[in-house]
Amino acid sequence: MPHYNGLPVPTDGTPVRMESGRCIVSDSPIVPFIEGDGCGRDIWKASKAVIDAAVERAYSGDRRIVWYEVFAGEKAHDRFGEWLPADTIDAIRALRVAIKGPLTTPVGGGIRSLNVALRQILSLYSCVRPVKWYPGVPSPMRDPGKLNIVIFRENTEDVYAGVEWECGTKEAGQVIEFLNGRMGRSIRTDSGIGIKPVSVTGSKRLVRAALQYAQDNGRSSVTLVHKGNIMKFTEGAFRDWGYEVATEEFRDRCVTEAELWESGGGGVAPNGKILIKDRIADAMFQQVLLRPAEYEVVATTNLNGDYLSDACAAQVGGLGLAPGANIGDDYAVFEATHGTAPKYADKDMINPSSVILSGVMMLEHLGWKEAARLIERGMTGAIAAKTVTYDLHRQMAGATKVGCSQFGAAVIRHMG
Ligand code: NAP
Repeated sequence: MPHYNGLPVPTDGTPVRMESGRCIVSDSPIVPFIEGDGCGRDIWKASKAVIDAAVERAYSGDRRIVWYEVFAGEKAHDRFGEWLPADTIDAIRALRVAIKGPLTTPVGGGIRSLNVALRQILSLYSCVRPVKWYPGVPSPMRDPGKLNIVIFRENTEDVYAGVEWECGTKEAGQVIEFLNGRMGRSIRTDSGIGIKPVSVTGSKRLVRAALQYAQDNGRSSVTLVHKGNIMKFTEGAFRDWGYEVATEEFRDRCVTEAELWESGGGGVAPNGKILIKDRIADAMFQQVLLRPAEYEVVATTNLNGDYLSDACAAQVGGLGLAPGANIGDDYAVFEATHGTAPKYADKDMINPSSVILSGVMMLEHLGWKEAARLIERGMTGAIAAKTVTYDLHRQMAGATKVGCSQFGAAVIRHMG
């Protein structure tokens, strides 16, 4: 077995393989993990214990995950002088499926964001964020259980492509000169400039993944969220290309909202077909508050998805409970959606649910659904028993406040 970052790959497990777009998983897959910075250290310990316990119980010891540490962020910088070593990327390439805690984005020169870099280097083009309410979790909504959606956020393009120039630089000046002199624009010369690329390739593969997910998981609608009324050739084009994928590649399995209205139908697609609709982003923020039950799967561009997924997470209990996955054709990296919350680092206080639930997504991706269900049962049980970390405790009457590791232990106890 090879070494990455100076550590040998464990010999008591086997790498996950991909065949025709499907994961081939042995009973002891090797899964690389990045512990994460700040609160990530506490969260990872608690989450690993929960995932291991669920696998052990679900398969009576016949299956286990062989964990393999890879490095990014502060730990990598301290050990190797690099924020994101090439070996870490190579290890994920070789082993296919990884999980990570939150990483500090180094301020100043160098890599702009480690998370964005990982997504772009490994072409993890779908950022998948399921948002659903667990009974008992405090929420600002009257009926939080009505929101149960999965957001597919395009992960490699849009204003996250990192094509921007600072105000006053030679490069910004050159771009402004080109736009004003050659393209007939009148951009103020004291502007910073950012470019928003949205491609056919990036848009179609994201919408395809969302449609495939809806089909595989019996979801009855996919909504394309865009700001095409203002940004016609990026956001508007995303919507048009999305409809093209639906009507050309999923024709017999979907119906568009326009087709439904033309045929006099109501708001529900017939015969188990998937309803394809689109909403302008600002209206969608209202819709998830006022008519959440009408949305099941959302496909959207990068920045819209970033805002929308955090807003939806707030409706069902906040970032501490929001899992995420970055999935491409060849690799998948599961991760917390929150940051490193540095003020809670090493205090064993923070809520580990985001990484635990990212573990649920990872187990589903590996096809280990029984273990995934056990974790969900444990989490629901712990919250129903009002055994919660500080963030939920401050909003719940009569709850018992526990630390990060104790919450993990409560999840394990409630798996049954
Ligand atoms: P943050 O780390 O997400 O923390 C902001 C606040 O959110 C915390 O102070 C806490 O609120 C709450 N929170 C976050 N995680 C929580 C959890 N697990 N349980 C309970 N509450 C939680 O955001 P930030 O302070 O803006 O960012 C810190 C660093 O993280 C930055 O370097 C940023 O670049 C990085 N970051 C990384 C990722 C990633 O790795 N995917 C994502 C976002 C940000 P209260 O104080 O109210 O308790």
